[in-house]
Amino acid sequence: MEKNNPFANALQQLATVNELLRIDKNIYAQLQHPQRILEVSIPVKMDDGHMEVFTGWRSQYNDARGPFKGGIRFHPDVSRDEVKALSAWMTWKTAVVNIPLGGGKGGVAVDPKKLSDRELEELSRGYMRAMAKFVGPELDVPAPDVYTDPRIMGWMLDEYEKMLGTHAPGVITGKPLSLGGSEVREFSTAQGAVYVMARAAEKLGLAKNSTVAIQGFGNAGSFMAELLEKAGYRVAVLSDSHGTICNYMGLKVAAVAAHKKNTGSVAGYVGANNEGEKHCLEHQVDILIPAALENSINAENVNFIQTKLIVELANGPISPEAEKIINEKNILIVPDILANAGGVVVSYFEQVQNASGYYWKKEEVRSRLQEIMERAFDEVWHEKEKYRTTMRLGAYALAVRRIETAMKDRGRN
Ligand code: NAD
Repeated sequence: MEKNNPFANALQQLATVNELLRIDKNIYAQLQHPQRILEVSIPVKMDDGHMEVFTGWRSQYNDARGPFKGGIRFHPDVSRDEVKALSAWMTWKTAVVNIPLGGGKGGVAVDPKKLSDRELEELSRGYMRAMAKFVGPELDVPAPDVYTDPRIMGWMLDEYEKMLGTHAPGVITGKPLSLGGSEVREFSTAQGAVYVMARAAEKLGLAKNSTVAIQGFGNAGSFMAELLEKAGYRVAVLSDSHGTICNYMGLKVAAVAAHKKNTGSVAGYVGANNEGEKHCLEHQVDILIPAALENSINAENVNFIQTKLIVELANGPISPEAEKIINEKNILIVPDILANAGGVVVSYFEQVQNASGYYWKKEEVRSRLQEIMERAFDEVWHEKEKYRTTMRLGAYALAVRRIETAMKDRGRN
C-alpha cells in the first residue's frame, strides 16, 4: 500500500497496540479487516439529461459491541481504503467512550459542490436505496461526515422510510430536529473536544486564555472556534483550503464566520494577517487543532510545528512519521478517537431518544456528554500512565481491550 494510505496507517496503529497488549491472535487477525464492505454504483440523472454513475462504499468494520455506526462522506478523494480506515477508527472510537455501538463508515467519490440541489438529493436518495438492506437502527446507523449534513440525512431517512413503509428515525443520526434529531448534535463533536481539551490543558498547566490555531474552519472547526472563544481561549489562527488568517489578540469568530458565509473562505478577512493555507500549522500557539482532512500534519511540515498540545478534531490528521517527531518533541496529542468522539456520543443519545420517543433538553444532552467525555479522558490518561506511553496508545489499548472482551464473550475467538 502506498505511503500515507489511511488504511495502512490504521493497521500500523493497530500493530503498535498489539505489541503493547498482545491481543488474542485470532481476534487480532479479524481486527485487521472490515467484517463487510459494500461497493455500489449510484446512477444520477443530471440536470442536462445525461446519466452520471457515482461509486459509493459502506464499510462495516466491527459490530461486536453493538450496531455498526459511522458517518457518510461526500468528497472527490473518497476511496475504498479511506472508508475502511475511517470505519476502523469508528470502531475504536465507540469503544473508547464506551457506548454500545460498533464501527462503520460510508462515502461517495463526488465533488458535491459541483452538484445542483436536485442532483445532490438524487445522489443521497440513491445511496440510501443502494444500502437500505444493509442498514437499520439495530444493524448499521449512518450519520453526517465531511460535506454531508442534516438536510442530506433528512432525504436519506425519507428514502429509507418510504422503502420500508414505516417510521424508523433511529436508522440515521444527525437528522434535523424536526425529524427526531438531538439537541447539541450540530456542535457535539466540537463540544466533546472542548471537554477533553480542558482536561488536557489542565494536565499541562495551560492558562485559560491560551492561544489556539485551528486548521479547517468547516463544520467541526468553526463550532470549535466559537466554543473556545466563549470559554475564554484566544483563537489566534484559523485556516481553510483557501488561506490562513492570524491575529494573536484573538480573532472575532462570529465576524470570521460571517465573512466566510459571504465569500466562501476565511481568506481576505480584514482584522488579521492573511497568509497561505499551509502557514496555519507553523504558528507558535499553545494549542493546535487540526480539523481538516487526513495526514495534514506529515513529514514535510511537522518540523515547523511549535505548540504544546495538539487536539485531533479531524480523523487521522497526523501521519505516523510525523507523529514520531511530535512525540520526541514532547508535544501532547489528544488522539482523534477520543478528541472527536463527541459527535458519535450525541448520535448515540439521538438513537436513545428515537427509541423511546422522548426528547431531552439541551442542558441534559450537554451534561451527559460532558460526563462521558471526561470519564473517557480520565480512563485514557490512566492507560497512558500505566503503560508509560502516549495518549493515542492508551486510548487504543482501552478500546481494543473492550472490543477483544466483547468478541471473546461472543465466542468469536
Ligand atoms: P468540513 O468539510 O465541514 O470542513 C473541513 C474544512 O477543512 C473546510 O473548511 C476545508 O476548507 C478545510 N480544509 C481542507 N483542506 C485544507 C487545508 N489544506 N488547509 C486548511 N483547511 C483545509 O468537514 P468537517 O465535518 O468539519 O470534518 C472535518 C474533520 O473532522 C474530518 O476529518 C472529519 O472526519 C472530522 N470529524 C467531523 C465530525 C463532525 O461532526 N463534523 C465528527 C467527527 C470527526
